[in-house]
Amino acid sequence: MKINCNVEVVNRSLPAPRKKAQRSCLAIGRQSVKNNELHLLLQQTTQNKLGTKYKIDENIEKVFTKFVNNGKATIRLKEPPHDLNIQCDAIQLKSFLRTLQLGLSKKLDASVLCISNMNPKSIAQAPKTKVTIKNKADYPVLQGFPRTTEELNIVGLERKSFDRQILRLQSLRVLNLSDNKITSLPKELASLPCLIELIVSNNALGSGGRNKWTWMNEGTLSKTLKLLDLSGNGLIHLSNQIGKLKKLVTLNVSCNSLTSLPTSIGTLSSLKYLDISHNCIQNLPGSLMKFRFEGLNIAHNPDISRVRSQSFAVNFTVSTLTQLGAQKVLYYRLPYDASIIPFTLVPCLDNATYCVCGKAVVGQYNCVETSKNVSQIANEVTASGDTNVSFQCVVCSHDCVKSLLFPR
Ligand SMILES: [Zn+2]
Repeated sequence: MKINCNVEVVNRSLPAPRKKAQRSCLAIGRQSVKNNELHLLLQQTTQNKLGTKYKIDENIEKVFTKFVNNGKATIRLKEPPHDLNIQCDAIQLKSFLRTLQLGLSKKLDASVLCISNMNPKSIAQAPKTKVTIKNKADYPVLQGFPRTTEELNIVGLERKSFDRQILRLQSLRVLNLSDNKITSLPKELASLPCLIELIVSNNALGSGGRNKWTWMNEGTLSKTLKLLDLSGNGLIHLSNQIGKLKKLVTLNVSCNSLTSLPTSIGTLSSLKYLDISHNCIQNLPGSLMKFRFEGLNIAHNPDISRVRSQSFAVNFTVSTLTQLGAQKVLYYRLPYDASIIPFTLVPCLDNATYCVCGKAVVGQYNCVETSKNVSQIANEVTASGDTNVSFQCVVCSHDCVKSLLFPR
């Protein structure tokens, strides 16, 4: 039995820094035809053809399996004092550990494990990690995608729906579904554990139903996604939920029909590249005024430089207890969903707006419109006209109004 996985070898007797996990092959088998003793064979590079052999019998101190459902486990060996930190597909890992357990309990006849499994040459093969499908005939309808897929490109196939097979790919890092006709993404997308780039450009997300943004809700995705491309989807509205994708560095919403951006975008502290070109955006949220973008593209938004009202009539009322509580939840970035708090409060939190000072504002809010040169908030600006842009600023207090209108 063998598995392709990432293995980090930690020598417990050395204080040296840990080596990074390497793409490896780990096998269980007997050593030779004459010797029925079971061994673990770890092969990490093609240079060391023989790999490292570990005796199994009375040599395994412990197997850590707490995170086996996430595809992670550690095998602690006595001699040499190595910890093998393994990461791979959860199902493969479980069956590998099961084989190991049978081997340890002597319930397994070593001779059944074919000796060719210990042949390092067959171990050196790298698993398939990149899959690109450009025409319908190549679509793996029956056999599915390899479980080891890390990059999946399904481009230009006129697919109308999201293929739920994708949700099984626990190693997926890059998903490119551009140039299809997909109208919505499933909620379960939020649980993919390592997705870093999601490209859904030139689809039909603008015509999806009311729940089309649930995939942005709390999940592992909100902690891993760095690039999101929603360009060319006929969007007239971008969900406030975008503020949940805390690790986002690059956001492309160009070539849609957006008239505004959600204020929660101002809470994305890692955001460096924003492309909102070719929309009908009339102003930027004030929560972006203190940003420092690397790249900002505002070209072809005809009305973005026009400040409409100059009136500053603001009226602050005393907040309710619900509002104060909700503001604290958002301030401390506490996770919430309908399983923890009353479900009627969830939309109240989801629809919060953000003041220029960064504080969340729940319920009614005051707005002030002002203008600012975007070259002050971005190192590189792409614009088709004036770079003085209108900002629609939510304000939470008289102090915030003052600091906005009379900046020091
Ligand atoms: Zn404020």
